Amino acid sequence: MSEIRLERIHKIYKETRAVDDVSLHISQGEFMVLLGPSGCGKTTLLRSIAGLEEIDAGSVIIGDRDVTEMPPRNRKIAMVFQSYAVFPHMSVFENIAFGLRMQKLEKAEIDKRVQSSAELLHIENLLERYPSQVSGGQRQRIAVARAIAMQSEVLLMDEPLSNLDALLRLEMRAELKRLLQEVGCTTVYVTHDQVEAMSMGDRIAVMRAGKILQLGAPLEIYQTPVDRFVGGFIGNPPMNFIAASVDRQGDGLIAGVEGAGSVQVDTRDAASLDDYVGQPVTLGIRAENIEVQRQATDGATLKARVLVVEPLGSHDLLTCQLGTEQIKVSTRPDMEVKAGEDVHLALERERTVWMDPDSERTIGM
Ligand code: ATP
Repeated sequence: MSEIRLERIHKIYKETRAVDDVSLHISQGEFMVLLGPSGCGKTTLLRSIAGLEEIDAGSVIIGDRDVTEMPPRNRKIAMVFQSYAVFPHMSVFENIAFGLRMQKLEKAEIDKRVQSSAELLHIENLLERYPSQVSGGQRQRIAVARAIAMQSEVLLMDEPLSNLDALLRLEMRAELKRLLQEVGCTTVYVTHDQVEAMSMGDRIAVMRAGKILQLGAPLEIYQTPVDRFVGGFIGNPPMNFIAASVDRQGDGLIAGVEGAGSVQVDTRDAASLDDYVGQPVTLGIRAENIEVQRQATDGATLKARVLVVEPLGSHDLLTCQLGTEQIKVSTRPDMEVKAGEDVHLALERERTVWMDPDSERTIGM
């Protein structure tokens, strides 16, 4: 197994900085996800690790080898792409064996590796068939089996599930996760799907415009995004952002929301918000960290009106008018909240993040 160290990688296409001074250390055996919207540079970064892009500056180190100048075939990596390129004229067996034959391995070794990686992917009974005789999900498994059979220390995957339908994606997501835990190779996985990133990654690097905005464990990024972009990109629904203004009250601070009331600032956040007294801030909170109550209480200090109720089975998703803003709130279905109802909202203080309205960055991070 190998760690990967990317140091100050730059890749520029004419006027586009596709990768802009990115450094990233991926530990041995880690599952790292590169996540971001279309065009943020994640594929270019992955291809730079593979050696399929010549980088303009920086270095790529795999294990103890500086591979920056090495061609892809010498980098000891395996890859699975979105268009999972299985060869239609070759049997499933030959597709999986392809890379091994290129390496000129012994027949017995090739047979053994094809068999064991096909078993891992549950396609051992399809080895005689041709790709046109298997389903889309099975074709996807062939591509993964071919990569696993290489027994590379590093596995690079670019949106490998994006051609599958929603149900199969869900199934393959869990299957890939199990498989990669079993194989234990260092994996870099590119996706624009935040659910996939959250559910699969040990850590996620959120990218935008060629840079890594935030690097961390999925829950850490979900709960404490570094800025409004990350908070809005991760999570469904996105984090709510509410305009507020900070004032002193007694020994503490409160944040007022125009036309709705005010909330107490958690003592943990008070020091970093002190500079904002008398100023506007943006309050960030997720739908599930807001509690709906029918009566005003010490905690439920914001008034809101329910506009829409979407029953989603496990919870109801409410759209509420809070002062001049609309926010999403999640409640238990048995509360039976109705559209048009006036309610009181309690925000979980330790799950509230505060952002500077101009820079849109989280205050105190
Ligand atoms: P997607 O999810 O759409 O594949 P991405 O995050 O993987 O997007 P990249 O493919 O890495 O993004 O592209 C990053 C930027 O570099 C984009 O602005 C893209 O237009 C540009 N780019 C990528 N490849 C080339 C190329 N060969 N020539 C010129 N510009 C390129």
